[in-house]
Amino acid sequence: MEDGKLARIWAAPAKINLALHVTGRRPDGYHLIESLAVFTRFGDRVEIAPAENDDFTVSGRYAPAVPLDESNLVLKARDALRRAAGPGKTSPISIKLEKNLPVASGVGGGSSDAAAVLRGLAEIWDLDLDGAALARIGLSLGADVPMCLAAKPLVARGIGEELSMVPDFSALGLVLVNPGMPVSTADIFAALSRRDNEPLPPLPRSIDFHSLRNWLELTRNDLEPAALALQPAIGRALSWLDKAGSGFSRMSGSGATCFGLFETGNVAKRAAAEIRGRQPDWFVAATRSMSSEAE
Ligand code: ATP
Repeated sequence: MEDGKLARIWAAPAKINLALHVTGRRPDGYHLIESLAVFTRFGDRVEIAPAENDDFTVSGRYAPAVPLDESNLVLKARDALRRAAGPGKTSPISIKLEKNLPVASGVGGGSSDAAAVLRGLAEIWDLDLDGAALARIGLSLGADVPMCLAAKPLVARGIGEELSMVPDFSALGLVLVNPGMPVSTADIFAALSRRDNEPLPPLPRSIDFHSLRNWLELTRNDLEPAALALQPAIGRALSWLDKAGSGFSRMSGSGATCFGLFETGNVAKRAAAEIRGRQPDWFVAATRSMSSEAE
């Protein structure tokens, strides 16, 4: 087979937790959450092609930060799908990951890479697995993989696997800012002072920039205080977003990536350029979220 001829690209968007409430803890130690999440056009890219032998390479700004061995979620996803498919159903595959998202940064890059691989390989291998079956395999890889498979505006509950899609949710202008240090999700959860917080308030009936901003004012990221204490640079990222005109700024996931909400894509681009000019070593990206109607 000619190399690259049948290669196809699968998007692995960033997952942004617009709000993230920690509402309890299961006896097995997993935290219960309620989160409104969206997914962005900016993200990693996964190129998949049939090949003579299995192969995996990584390029992109954050390539040096990800493992190349079986601990990479890309390979975990490939191998889990192969096991689920059964013998004789899966051919060798070359996977090229373009790692554009900062690692261990609260935007679910590894989970989204895994979801892209599951989606891509299920199609390439022509496997008879429906969305629920893929989500089950995804959940075995990580609590955020099912939501990354959905990749539309949604509310996640349970440990992140109980998903309700949010209809009529337009694309949002966002700026993502990461001040450059990884944050361990486990460390942040361990540092929480309480875990029995209020659930999310009901969503507005129709969601636009203004109604969303008003709703966000009523919500929290319950991981933010612990993350701010461990990494004060997160506070600086938030104030740069505010200074650049963000309508609402907050940390995503367990940090350190923060998002700012902007009314239009152009304003977001201008704000990103301003922050990049002041903090050239930080990760700064202007992007749009996927609407509930996006393909
Ligand atoms: P979450 O918001 O789901 O906690 P995150 O953005 O904080 O995710 P990831 O970037 O997904 O974190 O990385 C978490 C860990 O997974 C890292 O320590 C990293 O070494 C490991 N990892 C394995 N495969 C990948 C991958 N393809 N991309 C990123 N990290 C990976």
